[in-house]
Amino acid sequence: RRAMLVQFKNRPGETSDGRRVIVEGNIGTPEDAVRVAELGGEGVGLFRSEFLFMDRDDLPSEEEQFEAYKKACETMAGKPVIIRTLDIGGDKEVPALNLEKEQNPFLGYRAIRICLNQTDLFVTQLRALLRAAQYGDLRIMFPMISSIEEIRNAKQVLQQAKDLLDAEGVAYNPNVKVGIMVEIPVAAVCADMLAKEVDFFSIGTNDLIQYSCAVDRINEKISYLYRPLHPGVLRLIHMTAKAANENGIEVGVCGEMAGTPGMAPVLCGLGVTNLSMSASAMLAAKADLAAHSFAECKEFAERLLCAASATEAEQLFAEWRA
Ligand code: PEP
Ligand code: MG
Repeated sequence: RRAMLVQFKNRPGETSDGRRVIVEGNIGTPEDAVRVAELGGEGVGLFRSEFLFMDRDDLPSEEEQFEAYKKACETMAGKPVIIRTLDIGGDKEVPALNLEKEQNPFLGYRAIRICLNQTDLFVTQLRALLRAAQYGDLRIMFPMISSIEEIRNAKQVLQQAKDLLDAEGVAYNPNVKVGIMVEIPVAAVCADMLAKEVDFFSIGTNDLIQYSCAVDRINEKISYLYRPLHPGVLRLIHMTAKAANENGIEVGVCGEMAGTPGMAPVLCGLGVTNLSMSASAMLAAKADLAAHSFAECKEFAERLLCAASATEAEQLFAEWRA
């Protein structure tokens, strides 16, 4: 099977009849991009920038961040590199920020909420990103978006960062694409409106499942309720993809679901255009896509959307894979 998979390395992700699905890698450090490139990744669909901020007592400077983002871009040699701005809080800690312990950290002060409140921190990161964007197709992605105001406010801070660089005569790429993570249910439901504000969506299924099913994603006691194939989850993904398709913007999935064996054709059938996953899952995802026509993917996705329960959808999925 390994030998069989290797043939997909230099091929684009697509169904048997040529419907493109861009297959990309998730990374936590710029060094991780080497493997994504080696294994034929068509880009980086998610660079979790918070890893630059964790396991240390200070904050990375603009310069340190610039170097890291630039390196990822250079490794990907012109292919898209989506860098997500700080997504801390929840289960991710940044000691230097001294954040208060909260009763409901996953519902608390985190991610874009922190960045919009501590704009110095945000501006520093955005400056580094804008500068690094001169070295490739870097795209900026905001996490945990729940409203149109947050998008507009984040874009305003991005403009501030540009103004500062302009005033200082520092070189940067002013045409960076800007997108959001769709990982809070209200964002999926309002995707038709949000799509008009951004250049791309990326669905974070890890959090979307956690929030829509009200299941803490790291609590093993209730993990039996964490169901990627819950028809309600699939409908949220479908709504988001439909809104993106109708507005002519790309819509990816960058949660674990994207790299789950057999799931790529399902997500393609739901209208998803990009899949970002751990580098090790990319070849199998391309093989899964190549095994079906787009019509088959759509027809099967339609059946899953009409399943009465997660259990029924999981049974359909198992049969389809067999
Ligand atoms: C997600 O929520 O699906 C996601 C990709 O982001 P993270 O796992 O970093 O929260
Ligand atoms: Mg998330």
